[in-house]
Amino acid sequence: MKCAKGDKFSQGSIVPFGNIEISPSAGILNYGQGLFEGLKAHRTEDGHVLLFRPDENAQRMKRGADRLCMPSPSPGQFVNAVKQIVIANKRWVPPPGKGSLYIRPLLIGTGALLGVAPAPEYTFLIYCSPVGSYQKGALNLKVEDKLYRAISGCGGTGGIKSVTNYAPVYTAMADAKANGFSDVLFLDSATGKHIEEASACNVFVLKDNAISTPAIDGTILPGITRKSIIDIAIDLGYQVMERSVSVEEMLGADEMFCTGTAVVVNSVASVTYKETRVDYKTGPATLSSKLRKTLVGIQTGCLEDKKSWTVRVDST
Ligand code: PMP
Repeated sequence: MKCAKGDKFSQGSIVPFGNIEISPSAGILNYGQGLFEGLKAHRTEDGHVLLFRPDENAQRMKRGADRLCMPSPSPGQFVNAVKQIVIANKRWVPPPGKGSLYIRPLLIGTGALLGVAPAPEYTFLIYCSPVGSYQKGALNLKVEDKLYRAISGCGGTGGIKSVTNYAPVYTAMADAKANGFSDVLFLDSATGKHIEEASACNVFVLKDNAISTPAIDGTILPGITRKSIIDIAIDLGYQVMERSVSVEEMLGADEMFCTGTAVVVNSVASVTYKETRVDYKTGPATLSSKLRKTLVGIQTGCLEDKKSWTVRVDST
């Protein structure tokens, strides 16, 4: 779908996956005016296909578009476009237990311009791909203590899914991977005393049966999985606190886990902060495992969807 600035998005079409033509002076190429989303479709045992909370992705894209001075498709247009893509690619949704169809909506400034300003034209497009599990096994996180390598500071774009939030991760990630770690855990760039999020997931700690997760304050992404896991944990009787979580608290936690569309819910096996390494409980008896089972059960139609989070995609 295309839209000139301020106009409504025009009706789009479904075409085979391929390259798109773009002006060398497009806003996205020169000034990073772009957002993306990520969501999954799962096949149920009885052959239906379910999306998980696509309205939340639509709302998050809308908030991001406001921040980046872009028009955005309405939530109705967004969800409808996602459904159409899934219908057109239904045969690529893996069977139950074999993965999911990952759906990637993009909203980018494609109009040409010279000079820092919002692009005069925008494109909303969606592509998709079948995926298996994103990470194999529990995570070994390296805390990035060089604050100049933070993804986003106060007032930045950490609270939206801007394409520009990911390139700053590469150096920290490359160092971490070269040293055998699976991901990087970022700290708040103002003090370096509190944990924020990993490269593509939110983080939680468990101590004495109470769960804490960094509050949404504009520097971390308000994850849809994070929000869902908070609700599931409360329903299971846990106390959940959204607040600043210090590095010391994290190092003293009983359990730690990450949440995200790609990772779902994954245990953290260890965290290394400077010279200190802490190992956490992993395996089937963890809270992380219990939360993951419940979330996946809802997403795949195996457990009752009491909160109406899933949206069935029908061919008609
Ligand atoms: N933080 C970051 C930086 C991410 O890229 C993601 C993945 N979208 C998340 C957190 C988790 O968000 P969600 O649960 O909506 O996938």
